[in-house]
Amino acid sequence: MTPDSHQTKTDATIARRGLSLVISSPSGAGKSTIAHALMDADRSFQLSISVTTRKRRGSEVDGVHYRFIDKEEFMRLREKDDLLEWAEVHGNFYGTPRAPAERAMRNGHDMLFDIDYQGALQLQEKAGDDVVSIFILPPSMAELKSRLLRRAEDSSETIAIRLANSRVEIDRWRDYDYVIVNDDLNQAFEAVRAIIAAERLKRERRPGLEVFTKALLEEPIE
Ligand code: 5GP
Repeated sequence: MTPDSHQTKTDATIARRGLSLVISSPSGAGKSTIAHALMDADRSFQLSISVTTRKRRGSEVDGVHYRFIDKEEFMRLREKDDLLEWAEVHGNFYGTPRAPAERAMRNGHDMLFDIDYQGALQLQEKAGDDVVSIFILPPSMAELKSRLLRRAEDSSETIAIRLANSRVEIDRWRDYDYVIVNDDLNQAFEAVRAIIAAERLKRERRPGLEVFTKALLEEPIE
């Protein structure tokens, strides 16, 4: 046995496969806030930057929140099969660029997808075992509406469309592995972190356990 094999291991240092975390919710339920807090708190996640034909909001930066493109370019990407998944949401097109997501998954990195239920289903079909999906629910429709109004970044017409669509989205909660009611942002965030911690420890996701347990069993007890 080499001296190296006596090095103490921790759960964090045993090789594991990357996690593809999908977070969905109706607009205003807090999903993007949670996604960005997670990116700040956990450096091993890479955020998938979607392309969209939606108009950029004042607070958004091209290439950071989305890559804003026109419909022709979107259709071109779709035709070339450059999108891992795509959907029409609230009258605009959104899609996940294939190359960065597949590269991250191949290299065992954790990837975070802020996408709707149509995209979540497509990812589950394509990358099944690696996908962990979380659905965020608002505590009430009244709270959802007041959060959308408070955000004040969309026109009243856009807000009305999103509220009308929220019932269809909420009804898809059964498609997800985990469901969190976001009545308190901190608690919802802690729940997301607990899910990630548990998912990272899953046996099936940890090929490194074979080597580790073999060495553990071979180690002489002095
Ligand atoms: P928003 O316009 O508020 O940024 O996003 C509207 C909806 O589109 C949200 O539910 C968001 O998760 C979803 N979305 C954003 N990017 C993608 C994507 O690449 N694919 C799919 N399927 N949905 C997306």
